Amino acid sequence: MAETLRPNVAQFIKGPLQHYINGQWRPSKDGAVDDVIDPSTGKPICKVAMGGADEIDAAVAAAHGAFHSWASKTPNERSVMLHRLADSLEKHAADLAQLESMDVGKAIVNSEGFDIPFGVEGTRYFADLAVRALYDIPLGIKNIEARVHRVPYGVCGFVFPWNFPYDLLIWGVMPALAAGNTVVVKPSEVTPLTTLYVCKLASEVGIPPGVINVVVGTGAKAGSPLTAHPLVKRMSFTGSPGVGRIIGEVCGKNLKPCKLELGGKGAAVIFDDVDVNATAEKLAAAITLNTGQVCCTATRWIIHEKIYDDLVSKTREKLKAIRVGPALDRNTQMGPLVSRVQLERVTHYIENGTKQGATLLLEPQTLKVTGHEGGFYVTPSLLAGQSDNICCREEIFGPTAYVLKFKDEESAVKEVNSLSYGLANSVWSSDLKRAHRVAERMVAGNSWINANNVFAYGLPYGGVNLSGMGGGVNSPETFNDYLRSQTIARPL
Ligand code: NAD
Repeated sequence: MAETLRPNVAQFIKGPLQHYINGQWRPSKDGAVDDVIDPSTGKPICKVAMGGADEIDAAVAAAHGAFHSWASKTPNERSVMLHRLADSLEKHAADLAQLESMDVGKAIVNSEGFDIPFGVEGTRYFADLAVRALYDIPLGIKNIEARVHRVPYGVCGFVFPWNFPYDLLIWGVMPALAAGNTVVVKPSEVTPLTTLYVCKLASEVGIPPGVINVVVGTGAKAGSPLTAHPLVKRMSFTGSPGVGRIIGEVCGKNLKPCKLELGGKGAAVIFDDVDVNATAEKLAAAITLNTGQVCCTATRWIIHEKIYDDLVSKTREKLKAIRVGPALDRNTQMGPLVSRVQLERVTHYIENGTKQGATLLLEPQTLKVTGHEGGFYVTPSLLAGQSDNICCREEIFGPTAYVLKFKDEESAVKEVNSLSYGLANSVWSSDLKRAHRVAERMVAGNSWINANNVFAYGLPYGGVNLSGMGGGVNSPETFNDYLRSQTIARPL
């Protein structure tokens, strides 16, 4: 059953949706707006202002102006304010879930069951870290009275992608705010809704003007001037390796610290001692979660030859049974892809992969859903073939996996490490000694055992090589990233 829009959501999308700068809603100076498209229908949800350098300048000036006062609050005062925001996020969870699902095409059961509550928990986690952190660390140095004094950087810039707009916002900005920085956020132009809704709630609970600022716009017009702005003291980017490289270059040129959370092509190595049916269930869930648009999920399945046929056949059946439909329909297990561009990207990859010799073990179908004919629906698919195939080597970002066979542990590990990505891999075996050994040998920021997508506060997460640098997301590491150290010393 499709849901009707909640009153707060219906009111919010009436708009006009504008930038949030210095605690106020502002249009773009040049009046530019664009449609926000609903992936379930292909039709506009509403219009949103599209900003550029003028709006970025205003947002950075506001964040700069608010910094001293925010940084001077006690950690406890900041923590209390962020806890109030968390309470408000929780109170408006149903509104946020509906907005996130409409905007991204994410099944409503997932937004409600995971994305929104996990962001509430994250806000509380970082609010608590603010009061637990050490801001002065005494040093035992002979003949010198010395300490490391830890202070926030100032204005921090954030550029986010479209696949988990709300959670990535929380994971990104909450540690920065808790540590006493002020922020300017450029969400993806494709999915700005929950980011703007969080600003509305932040304003209602009394987060002071200028502490959080959001400018919606394209990467070229808004992301670029934000990255290069001299008053932005630290940058954080989540998105594709291509854009990550550009942002890293600009930050490098300006000697600005920069965290990059980039794409992945996660492998799952499955040994012959697993429960085949249970593993098939988890693999099917991995590539259909968020319609496969998950940077860290398992999209290369490296399966022991003894169970290959059985596991592939069971997974195929489970994928065929996945209910694809509109994001707000409560029966939907997998919604549409986020955009027409993404639908074309997935389709082209699969066409190219088959041209290069891959076999389709499960063919993707582009669907016309009654009443939602313009939506960007595609069913899950499975490919098999050589490991040099484009679909095995590049991030597709859709509900599709590439399967390979292996004989021995050594060749499986070699296969995993043959790509430059290094975000997350998993190993599946009931022999835990072997599982730990393989987990250690797979080169990436994260190795998961008998599971996919293991996220919990306190568990660091990040990528290496083509998947990024400076991880630690969701852990004290990322909170500490937003404090710079200053040594204070007095010879005795
Ligand atoms: P993208 O790189 O195309 O865009 C990401 C953001 O960068 C958008 O807001 C975009 O407007 C902006 N941007 C584009 N060009 C820019 C420029 N020159 N300067 C500044 N900003 C610019 O990525 P996408 O298509 O939105 O998202 C998908 C990608 O994100 C995938 O590669 C996925 O793996 C990755 N991702 C990684 C993680 C992680 O934690 N490692 C999490 C989610 C998504």
